[in-house]
Amino acid sequence: MTAAETAAETAAETVAETVAETVAETVAGDRLWQWRQQSRQAAIAHQIDPAEVDWLLHHAAGVEPLLLKLGPPADRAIALRRSLADLTQLWTERLHARTPVQYLVGSVPWREFDLAVSPAVLIPRPETELLIDLALAAAAQQGLSTHLPHHWADLGTGSGAIALGLATAFPTATVHAVDASGDAAAIARQNAEATGLTSRIQFYQGSWFEPLSRLAGQLQGIVSNPPYIPTCDLASLDPEVAQHEPPAALDGGPDGLDCIRHIARSAPHYLQPGGILLLEMMAGQAAAVTQILAATEEYAEIQIYPDLAGIERFALGALK
Ligand code: GLN
Repeated sequence: MTAAETAAETAAETVAETVAETVAETVAGDRLWQWRQQSRQAAIAHQIDPAEVDWLLHHAAGVEPLLLKLGPPADRAIALRRSLADLTQLWTERLHARTPVQYLVGSVPWREFDLAVSPAVLIPRPETELLIDLALAAAAQQGLSTHLPHHWADLGTGSGAIALGLATAFPTATVHAVDASGDAAAIARQNAEATGLTSRIQFYQGSWFEPLSRLAGQLQGIVSNPPYIPTCDLASLDPEVAQHEPPAALDGGPDGLDCIRHIARSAPHYLQPGGILLLEMMAGQAAAVTQILAATEEYAEIQIYPDLAGIERFALGALK
């Protein structure tokens, strides 16, 4: 056998192995379509958005969304990364245990990332994606350099979403990502590894600023999506949130503002002059958060920004 033939054979084996690893089952188009229709009907009966069936088929089984939109040809063989039996089991859990589909699949798309998630971390929300654009705009407005080595912090990083977003938005920054939960920090680290950003993100397990004492006065920006839901509202959240997401990532104390108060009051000690604090909050909290920031007398400009649904969702302060 020539060297070229050996190489070709090895390549063929590699392809075969990859396919064997990734394809769990091949089903006919009409069988897949029937499964989809049945699952959608069950979703509607359980007051769950039937579009989640396509999410599951796409993210768990690797079925192209376009194929699902058009409807696969009846006799076309569709390769699935998970068998229909597995998918049925996942969908049953979705319907009966109200487990969020992102935990079932184990990942969620967020900005340009495909983030691993588990019940140890809050599922990153689409509205939080805007925090990164706001951080970029605020840094530009404050004349903060985006090219010198500099430091940012993501407090309560969870899956690491914001830290990854900041590390990408500010390509020469070091991002300090803090979480009280060791399990969350492990997921965040895994996500940083998957995106090749570990060299510029440092992870800490601890409470808010506690692990960052050596960075006093040095941070260009602090970004956080802290727990902000009033404790008494937790039980009435959707069961997907109330029964599955980590309460520590949601519970903001009696008025929901405990963590925001703590961060707003502590941040000035860690920011450089002109450095920014950017916080996510709940609908209806804008006036209270503005008041909390103003009461410190440390922030020169306090601004509130809406999310894409028009809800006042983010508060920004720049250190005097
Ligand atoms: N946005 C989340 C929700 O709607 C709450 C996240 C948080 O408390 N930071 O459930």
